This record gives sequence, C-alpha cells and structure tokens, in this order.
Amino acid sequence: MDIENLLFDLNSIKNSKGLKIEGACRASLFDSVLHKSYKVAEVFLNLNFSLGSDSILAQGFIKGKVNLLCARCNEAFEYKCKENFIELYNCSEKTADIESLIASLLSISIPMKPLCSDDCKGICSKCGTNLNIENCQCDYQNENAFAVLKNLAI
Ligand SMILES: [Zn+2]
Ligand SMILES: [Zn+2]
Repeated sequence: MDIENLLFDLNSIKNSKGLKIEGACRASLFDSVLHKSYKVAEVFLNLNFSLGSDSILAQGFIKGKVNLLCARCNEAFEYKCKENFIELYNCSEKTADIESLIASLLSISIPMKPLCSDDCKGICSKCGTNLNIENCQCDYQNENAFAVLKNLAI
C-alpha cells in the first residue's frame, strides 16, 4: 500500500496519542519539490510520531532510490540512500509536512557530482566514447607524457 499523503494533521495525532506508519511513498509526490534533474523511483518511509509534554516528536528513516545522471559518463543510474531523521513539532503547529522533510533529506543525500561508480572512467574528451564500455584509439595520455619528455630534453 502506497502512502499517498505526507501532510499529517498533528491534532489527530495528539488525539490518538501518536502514530506509526511504514510503507512506500508515492514517488510522484516529490516531483514538484525536488530538483528537475532528479527522478525519484522509490521512497520507503518509516515514521513514528510520539507525544511529549508540549511537543510532538517525529522520528524514523527513509530509504530512497533516485534516478540520476552520472557526472562523468552521463549515463543514467540508480542512486540509493538511507537517511535517519528526528523532527520536533510544537503543539501549536497544525501540520507535519513530511513531504518537504523527505525532499530535503533526499537533496542533502544526493551528491553534487553523482557518479555511477567510484571508478567510472568517464567519456573520452576527444571522441566521446564511453570508456566504461570500450576503449578508444585516442592516445592523449601518452601524447602528454611525450610532450613533457620533449620539454625536458630541451
Ligand atoms: Zn559514470
Ligand atoms: Zn577517444
């Protein structure tokens, strides 16, 4: 069962003395709040509201899968993250906006330059070949080494 609504009414949580919820969130909920280059594939939410004397505590974790483009080779890949959270709401507040909370957790977790793998070889700057898939014939590294040797010889 998908979680369709991530705006929780704090009054009804107070009345029911807390709330526990766990499940997958509808991914399209985050389309409007996240950066356009991210496509959320899946967010699993574990959320537990508990009552304090004058506040409501929300704590739990998210496990997300986001479709990103690699900053080196430009190929799409699935980025996985897990983030814990603790959020405190004042009793005078009406709504707990878990939607925005999850969106900011995802933005914090996603790296500025996401890589499909730590040793992604990227794209050849000369011919555009994806060097993870095949090697190209451009020998620019040797070329550079040769230029250095030539300068030393002079
Ligand atoms: Zn890559
Ligand atoms: Zn090349």
